[in-house]
Amino acid sequence: DKQSALKLVQKLENDPLNPKQGLESLGAEPEGFFDSAPADLRGWNNGEGGNDPQADLLAGDDLVHGEPSLEYEFTRRRIQTNIGEIWNYFSSELAKISKVVASKGHKELEESISQVLVQGAEHKRSLLSDMEHMRRSDGYETWRHKEARDLSDLVQRRLNHLQNPSDCQNARKLVCKLNKGCGYGCQLHHVVYCFIVAYATERTMILKSRGWRYHKGGWEEVFQPISKGCHIAGTANAYNWPGKPNTQVLVLPIIDSLMPRPPYLPLAVPEDLAPRLKRLHGDPIVWWVGQFLKYLLRPQQPTREFLFAGMRNLGFERPIVGVHVRRTDKVGTEAACHSIGEYMTHVEDYYRTLEINGSSVVRRVFLASDDANVIEEAREKYPHYQIIGDPEVARMASVSTRYTDTALNGIILDIHLLSMSDHLVCTFSSQVCRTAYEIMQTMYPDASHRFKSLDDIYYYGGQNAHNRRVVIAHSPRTHEDLQLRVDDLVSVAGNHWDGNSKGKNTRTNQVGLFPSFKVEEKIDTAKLPLYPGI
Ligand code: GDP
Repeated sequence: DKQSALKLVQKLENDPLNPKQGLESLGAEPEGFFDSAPADLRGWNNGEGGNDPQADLLAGDDLVHGEPSLEYEFTRRRIQTNIGEIWNYFSSELAKISKVVASKGHKELEESISQVLVQGAEHKRSLLSDMEHMRRSDGYETWRHKEARDLSDLVQRRLNHLQNPSDCQNARKLVCKLNKGCGYGCQLHHVVYCFIVAYATERTMILKSRGWRYHKGGWEEVFQPISKGCHIAGTANAYNWPGKPNTQVLVLPIIDSLMPRPPYLPLAVPEDLAPRLKRLHGDPIVWWVGQFLKYLLRPQQPTREFLFAGMRNLGFERPIVGVHVRRTDKVGTEAACHSIGEYMTHVEDYYRTLEINGSSVVRRVFLASDDANVIEEAREKYPHYQIIGDPEVARMASVSTRYTDTALNGIILDIHLLSMSDHLVCTFSSQVCRTAYEIMQTMYPDASHRFKSLDDIYYYGGQNAHNRRVVIAHSPRTHEDLQLRVDDLVSVAGNHWDGNSKGKNTRTNQVGLFPSFKVEEKIDTAKLPLYPGI
């Protein structure tokens, strides 16, 4: 019956509202984590895909087997996002009014506003909690898990095929040099970009990683080789991008110097997968990038053991919120400094939503940073939280010791644990957090809503235009506002997280603000090889 089917779904799901489910076996039996994980939970997979007995059980179960329509999924996610947006709007407007009221000494009015804010926040949490409940009980959860697993298996099989040509010597190849002069997250994104070009041009990617700034011995000593036997590019017929039609070995520059730029760079997703991805996922490009990371980051045995040991030693347990605080060289150059309090406000909000129905959970935070003081400060200021994190790892992440083996272990562990958290609070200006968010997508059918960024919206360095389509017309409220007509395309620059976003109306070329809820994502697609028979 429907009741027991629902129970089954809840049991198998990585259910944030049921924090006891899921990963609690980790401490006792590390390998059990992968076995008890929900469908397609293997961020660190074996590259073969499939073979998830629990998902098979679900798929074979005909008690709950409906498929949602695209419209339904789309609307459900839109409501969820816009609950956040309406709250951002009211809370920030009320805070502004409250300031004025306070400056005029209207104590009572100030107090009333603060009451409204408290009530409003609770109301918002209740709505978000109901949305989670609706998703879990609408009868489509089985389909979501199966579809996520099937799509991921398909892409992993294609990558596996691409990377293991039958005739390596004569195969078309794409050479990618790992050592871009930047941090680990940035370098991973560089490799993913190469891999996307390789996928699009049906070339086997050859990763040059000797002398890697994080580990001189190269990639293969840390992660599994990206091919079982095809590692040598050969020098015959090697050309720089874009090469010639018959170029056998193509060498790729970094994305910033790529000319001409092909249409399949992020944020585009493959046309053949797009209809399925649009229904399954709230932000298909993040899913797509996550699939490349899933293939790339299959750990070597010592790396795997190190990760498990790290998790055990830290006492990583769910529920847990992953917080990444990027400081040192980033602050004042590429991003603003945010106090630990700013991050913790959102952590608190997450836990209050989780506990809206009166349950209570241990409040755990996994805190990663390149500044060890942050971890100590958080422990001091938030004694009612279990703050998990290693100040030693953070110390090694400082600029002077960053490019060492110890620091590499630290950043791999930090990104892995951030990606395994139930929710992320961070700055998307950092590639550390964006990478964790991308990997997180391989652990759930759709984890696109499991984050709070204090600054940027998600982006991919060097991406093509990011457009949103207007669905509700807008007349400017002030001179700062855009005028919008339905179907206009707005190139978005960012979200101010106060109900408004900033962008350029591509019809009028006007730059300005607009209410975030009046647009929807325009998902870019690119015609890519179909990999028939794979
Ligand atoms: P971004 O500069 O923040 O966009 O990210 P990158 O990954 O490109 O470069 C920052 C580098 O600083 C990382 O790769 C790490 O080497 C180090 N780092 C930054 N934050 C952390 C952190 O939270 N933990 C650890 N272990 N290292 C970090």
